[in-house]
Amino acid sequence: MFEKILIANRGEIALRVIRACREMGIKSVAVHSTADADAMHVRMADESVCIGPAPSSESYLNKAAIISACEITGAQAVHPGYGFLSENASFAQALEDHGITFIGPSAEHIRIMGDKITAKETAKALGIPVVPGSDGGVPDFDTARRVAEGIGYPVIIKATAGGGGRGMKVARNAEELEIAFRTARSEAKAAFGNDEVYIEKYLQKPRHIEIQVFGDGKGRAVHLAERDCSLQRRHQKVFEEAPGPAITPKMRAEIGTICANAVAKINYIGAGTIEFLYEDGRFYFIEMNTRLQVEHPVTEYIFGVDLVREQIRVAAGLPMSFTQDELEINGHAIEVRINAEKIPNFSPCPGKVRMFHAPGGFGVRMDSALYSGYTIPPYYDSLIGKLIVHGRDRPEALARLKRALSELIIDGVDSSVPLFHMLLAEPDIQNGEYNIHWLEKWLAEQFG
Ligand code: ADP
Repeated sequence: MFEKILIANRGEIALRVIRACREMGIKSVAVHSTADADAMHVRMADESVCIGPAPSSESYLNKAAIISACEITGAQAVHPGYGFLSENASFAQALEDHGITFIGPSAEHIRIMGDKITAKETAKALGIPVVPGSDGGVPDFDTARRVAEGIGYPVIIKATAGGGGRGMKVARNAEELEIAFRTARSEAKAAFGNDEVYIEKYLQKPRHIEIQVFGDGKGRAVHLAERDCSLQRRHQKVFEEAPGPAITPKMRAEIGTICANAVAKINYIGAGTIEFLYEDGRFYFIEMNTRLQVEHPVTEYIFGVDLVREQIRVAAGLPMSFTQDELEINGHAIEVRINAEKIPNFSPCPGKVRMFHAPGGFGVRMDSALYSGYTIPPYYDSLIGKLIVHGRDRPEALARLKRALSELIIDGVDSSVPLFHMLLAEPDIQNGEYNIHWLEKWLAEQFG
C-alpha cells in the first residue's frame, strides 16, 4: 500500500480523499494555489505545497508543479479528484513516466473515452447500446441529410470535440438541418478549433441515467447500479439520486451487466461512469467519464462501500473488496449540489462566509470544505458543498433531505439552498417524474 498520496485538487473532493487516506493510515499531501492558502483541504492534510498563483491554469492544472510537489514530498501516488487533471491522459502518462501512480484508469482508456466519436465506436464494439446516428463525422450537408432521413427527425448535431453541452444544434426537418449543420460547424470551429460534427437521433424526453462501474485492471469488473441525474440546468446536474425512480431491477441488471462486462473486457481499472440517455425502456450511450463523479456519494450510501478507498486499493494492486454478488442495494439516497450563487439568475457569489453550520443526524452526510469565517475565492467552480441523505426508501430520503436542509446555515453568501426547498414541494419531484428538460421548464415557469 502507498505510504503517501498527493491530492491534485481542492474543495470538498480534496477533503473526501484526505478522509479516505486517513482511515487507511496513508499520509496525505494537499496542493494549493496562493488564493487557497487558508482552504480547509490545506489545513486537513498532513502536508501541503503551494503550486502556483490563483488561476487554475497556473496551479491546479500545472502538471510540472504537481509532479515537483510529489518529488519534494515523496508522494507515491496522485488522486486527481474530478475536474482539473482527472481526465487528462498526458498527466496520467507523465506521472507514470516519473514512477508515480495515477489513481485512475490508464492514459489509453482516458484518451479513448475523451474523444466522442472514438468513445461511441468503442462503446458500440463492446456491446453497449448507443444513440442511432452517423458512423463518425459527417463531412457535408448531403451526407447529413441522408443520415437524418435514415434515422428520422428530429436529430441533434454535435461537435466531435465538444464538451460541457456546447456546440449542439437540434433540427426537426431538412430546412432546419441545413441551417443547423452550417451553424454547428462554424460554432465548433470557433469554440474547439475543429469543425467536425456528427449526427444523432434527438431524444425528446429522456432521463439522464448513469451506471457506476468499477474494475480491478485485471479483467474483473462490477457495476454499482445507476444514478438518475436528470435534474439539470444548462447540462449541469443539480440533484442526483440512486437508485433511479424509473429503473426496474430487471433493467438495472441488464444494463449493469452490459457495462460491467464491457469494462472487464478492456481491463479497466478503478471507478468509471457510463452515461446514458434513457427513454421508453431503452438506454442510449452518450459518454463515459473515466474518473470519480461529483455524485458518487449516493452510490456509496446505497451500497455501503467507500469508492475512494476502493480506487486507492486497486491502484495499489490489491483486489476489489467486493464481488457483484455481494453488492446489494439498501434503501435510497439523494444528493443536492450547493453552489455559491444567487437564485433565480444563478450568478456566482463568492465572498466571506460569516457562519456555516452543517446539518447532521441519522442518514445525513455533508461533504463541504466551508467553515465559519472562510472566504470563497472567485477563481474556481461555485460548488461549495454537497448534502447527501439516505433513507430506507425514497419518501424517507425526501423527508430527511427536507429536514437536513432546514438545519443548514450558510450565512454571508447566497447559495442554491432556497431552490431545493422549492423543488421538494413539487409533486413531480416527490413522485420522481422528471426528465432532462423538467428543471429548465420549471425554472422558466417560476422565474420567467
Ligand atoms: P457534453 O460532453 O458537451 O456534455 P453530451 O454528449 O454528454 O455532451 O450531452 C450533454 C447533454 O445534451 C445530455 O445530458 C443531454 O441533456 C443532451 N443530449 C445529448 N445528446 C442528446 C440526444 N441525442 N438527444 C437528446 N438530448 C441529447
